Amino acid sequence: MLKINTIFYSSQETGYNAGMKAIIVCMSGCNKKCWFCNTKQHIKINEYLVSKNLKTELLKYSPSTRVMFTGGEPLLQKDNILMFIRNYPEYTYYLETNGTIALTEEEFKLFTWVTVSPKDDEIPILLFKGFCHEIKIVWTGVEDLDLYENFTQVKYLCSCSELNNEMQTRREACNRHQAWRY
Ligand code: SF4
Repeated sequence: MLKINTIFYSSQETGYNAGMKAIIVCMSGCNKKCWFCNTKQHIKINEYLVSKNLKTELLKYSPSTRVMFTGGEPLLQKDNILMFIRNYPEYTYYLETNGTIALTEEEFKLFTWVTVSPKDDEIPILLFKGFCHEIKIVWTGVEDLDLYENFTQVKYLCSCSELNNEMQTRREACNRHQAWRY
């Protein structure tokens, strides 16, 4: 059973695919506790829509066939998500993960696009290097962008609403690290 928090149809707000419309499937629960988290899925792990049948839900947004798994941390439910994807290959699948739970090469190839959004650790570098299309970091002013120099080519800094002057500091960080966009 997939534990889903919410499902809605919307445009991707940030990163390489900004503006792309998709059915956004927000999975319940997270294994991180980021102070700036706006979903609070790490403390709402037992709040989910047990009655949702994902295929039935996706049909409500027909003819859209683009599905984005996000969270929380969707790969906490990796086996069930991958089973769903294998059962319904008529959809294209996008993933946004914090990078703490690995995908094999075969699993990675089930997704059209994988975004890794690391939080305060280097685990994603070990687990996802070569297995992601995009890195997206929530900029809180202290992240070491040099860590991700050779991680992947597509790199984005996203805003942290809790940070003062976040736009200015993000712009300055991207000026110092030319491969990053904001
Ligand atoms: S990884 Fe994402 S969902 Fe999880 S606590 Fe951090 S910001 Fe929230």
